[in-house]
Amino acid sequence: MAGAAGASAIGAGAIGVTTGSATTTGVSGVTGVVVIGAGVVGLAVGRELALQGLEVMVLESENAIGTGTSSRNSEVIHAGIYYPAGSLKARLCVQGKQMLYAYCAERGVAHQRLGKLIVATSPEQVAQLAGIQAKAAANGVHDLRQISAAEARAIEPALRCDAALLSPSTGIVDSHGLMLALQGDMENAGGLLALLSPVQSIGVGQGTASHPLRLCTEDGTELAARFVVNAAGLNAVAVAHRIEGLNKALLPQASYAKGNYFTLAGKAPFSHLIYPVPEHAGLGVHLTLDLGGQAKFGPDVQWVDDPADLVVDPRRGDAFYAEVRKYWPELPDGALQAGYAGMRHCGRRLQLAHAVAHSASSWPSQPDWLRWRASWPDRFCRCSRPCTCCPS
Ligand SMILES: Cc1cc2nc3c(=O)[nH]c(=O)nc-3n(C[C@H](O)[C@H](O)[C@H](O)COP(=O)(O)OP(=O)(O)OC[C@H]3O[C@@H](n4cnc5c(N)ncnc54)[C@H](O)[C@@H]3O)c2cc1C
Repeated sequence: MAGAAGASAIGAGAIGVTTGSATTTGVSGVTGVVVIGAGVVGLAVGRELALQGLEVMVLESENAIGTGTSSRNSEVIHAGIYYPAGSLKARLCVQGKQMLYAYCAERGVAHQRLGKLIVATSPEQVAQLAGIQAKAAANGVHDLRQISAAEARAIEPALRCDAALLSPSTGIVDSHGLMLALQGDMENAGGLLALLSPVQSIGVGQGTASHPLRLCTEDGTELAARFVVNAAGLNAVAVAHRIEGLNKALLPQASYAKGNYFTLAGKAPFSHLIYPVPEHAGLGVHLTLDLGGQAKFGPDVQWVDDPADLVVDPRRGDAFYAEVRKYWPELPDGALQAGYAGMRHCGRRLQLAHAVAHSASSWPSQPDWLRWRASWPDRFCRCSRPCTCCPS
């Protein structure tokens, strides 16, 4: 993103690694790479770079690792079904799934390959299952199997559906255990983690001759680095704005979609993850399980202006009942409790949807979407692929 004589700042990453002596430029430390942010991305990047023999330092603003989006998600290991074929997301999801299962097994990170059912609850949706299966196959996910309503009920007696797709490679992972393992590997390889170290500014060409990037943290500490990886999650765009010399016109504008979860009181009625057939741009109100067997429904999509707005409004639960009862009619009244929320940062393409759908409770339909795009072509990026920013 920014560069100067041997230095670069890499988007979506973290800052890392220190060592070396202070210099005449007055920095208090010198390091090869600084990774900004100790979420799952920053820790994974820091680990990999440390294993490659680079000096790495991960700077985290909070007093613990993984307090951001990495601890506010569904903890699902996705199979890679929905992303557009050939997209980076499709390739990385399928490859990443295999690597993640192998890593969890090797490092003893708790996980379960539970499998997922994508359930069709109308004849129209049954007709869509073959298309979903074909899309998955185009992404290299060849293990989906369509099953009948009777087969689905045989493995999930509480389920009501007309047919379903079984995805055996979908699973769940202990996200905090994963991050602890990544941190441990990084530190064993010589990488460093500094908590309570929010990066305030990144100067290009202001470090040393060999380490030209200069990072300042809130307490005034200054580090020189050769590379910076910005893995600050929801704050990554704000951090990028603090990179001196970066063309700010290239940066996306902030647009936030909150995902609310409602937990189920009592025993989970299913042993697989249950997803409806996607109807709009999201994945629908689905059921996921954690490693303790607790069921939760969500996340939904709620456009917000403030990324710190993580309070779940219990009134949103009303809409969950109707959606869930399409595939689980026995959901008892009063069984859903407001859980937690996570925040998605969505790109330029979705900002119009934000504006238009701000007061709506659900995603726009595809015809609406196309009409808006035709009306305001300058508000959309030029690629014709569907947005995969928010589905997760
Ligand atoms: C509702 C929801 C559900 C999801 N479900 C799934 C799922 O089931 N499966 C899946 O694979 N993915 C899922 N995701 C996506 C996944 O959670 C994220 O992609 C991932 O956690 C992002 O990790 P991160 O490290 O980039 O960000 P974060 O975890 O947010 O980490 C960023 C870190 O940077 C730190 N930071 C910020 N600014 C600074 C600064 N200036 N200096 C230093 N540190 C800073 C923050 O404190 C934070 O610790 C979901 C996301 C959401 C919102």
